Amino acid sequence: MTRGRHGHTARPYGGPRKVWHPTSEDDFCERCGLPIRWAWTEANKKMPVDPDEADRDDAAANLAVWRNHLRRLCVRVITAERPLLGFEHRGIPHFATCPPLVAERDAKRAVRESRRAAAAATPDVTEPEQLRAARRGEDLPS
Ligand SMILES: [Zn+2]
Repeated sequence: MTRGRHGHTARPYGGPRKVWHPTSEDDFCERCGLPIRWAWTEANKKMPVDPDEADRDDAAANLAVWRNHLRRLCVRVITAERPLLGFEHRGIPHFATCPPLVAERDAKRAVRESRRAAAAATPDVTEPEQLRAARRGEDLPS
């Protein structure tokens, strides 16, 4: 599998129409194998972002990505106080799109929701009453 080395059409960060290609193992997510780019956060931590630029009005892509004077790819969260600037583009953290991570989150949410639904379907008062009756060896009056 070439893992997207060829035919990858993402626009690069920081330059017009210069196509970025993953060149090393680090350029692929170790969980899903998709190409990723590493950017530096303002807390000086590395964060994987999707190589594709998002539309400028895509609110789901909550990162501003730019290349600084050291040609370092930088990333920050877009806020109301700090909107997207002209030299930046919108990006998406790879955590938000990584298929295994997304599937894991969906599965966890499904479990939480089914637990909540089960709890809502079982009135709290009946269980202690049944337990007390069972302890006394009685049947509940029907
Ligand atoms: Zn991934």
